[in-house]
Amino acid sequence: MRLSVVVPCFNEERGLQHLHDALSTVLAVAAEEFEVLLVDDGSSDGTLDELRRICAEDTRFRFIALSRNFGKEAAMLAGLSQATGDAVALMDADLQHPPELLAKMVELLGHGYDQVVARRTRKGDKPVRTLVSRLYYRVINKLVDVELKDGVGDFRVLSKRAVKALLSLGEYNRFSKGLFSWIGFDTAVVPYENVQRQHGETKWTFGKLLNYGIDGVVSFNSKPLRMAIYLGLLTTGLAFIYAVYVILDSIIGGVDTPGYATVMVGVIAFGGLQLLFLGVMGEYLGRIYYESKRRPHFLVKESSGDTPVTVALGT
Ligand code: UDP
Ligand code: MG
Repeated sequence: MRLSVVVPCFNEERGLQHLHDALSTVLAVAAEEFEVLLVDDGSSDGTLDELRRICAEDTRFRFIALSRNFGKEAAMLAGLSQATGDAVALMDADLQHPPELLAKMVELLGHGYDQVVARRTRKGDKPVRTLVSRLYYRVINKLVDVELKDGVGDFRVLSKRAVKALLSLGEYNRFSKGLFSWIGFDTAVVPYENVQRQHGETKWTFGKLLNYGIDGVVSFNSKPLRMAIYLGLLTTGLAFIYAVYVILDSIIGGVDTPGYATVMVGVIAFGGLQLLFLGVMGEYLGRIYYESKRRPHFLVKESSGDTPVTVALGT
């Protein structure tokens, strides 16, 4: 069995040597044969130099350098499209995905699973983030058709056909948590203790997390648009009932001081609702706009060895 390990790297120069050492130790045992595909996602530090050096010293390690920062999703896709193994593992460069777990994951894959995912605990995370995540997953699973699990990320081992399935999904907006779930196949889960980052820092700011959260909601179906219809129907119904009441009231009781408060509340509430759903519609429209351009997901500027690398994965 030949295992490919795909690692997206963005400004990870300080951790790469550790990653190399850890992976070469672990993989020697976990797989009969292996390759590690390091994808430089347009880093601005010395990551690319480190990759050149590591790959020159150890030919089991290869790299692809993207022409700029395309984001982790694109970097993973670049790696997946170049992987040659019978199974492909995806993991982070910062050793927050413990490489020791790979042996067990690969073994499980051999037992007939197509995806083996690692699921982390939230130990050591900020309590606020843990709470928000819990709430988020509870809500989002009501909204989307695919199942999303808290603590399950990109750390996983995939069979060849699962990789092929993922590559066949050509959409530009890639919410991989959902895509992994969408392709289906038998999936095994391996739990592990949360690990804190050793070198460098996380690329997730609050704003990025918020955007990611919204991506999750609108990437998999159009339920938010359906919600707009129902909410619209409900408010129109209520407004109609209220209108009848106001008209009858003024015919029977005559017109007294008009209700400023009622009008204001109505204006503010409906103004807000309209803006919200205009935003929701815009979100879908924006996605159609991006999909319709059919741009490649990434561009490659350099790669190790003489392996010809296709410039981009067309959609
Ligand atoms: N990463 C990437 N491109 C980006 C951002 C991140 O390739 O634009 C890589 C990063 O180098 C790391 C992985 O994605 O290997 C996860 O990033 P990070 O550790 O910042 O995320 P966290 O672990 O905090 O969720
Ligand atoms: Mg990390």
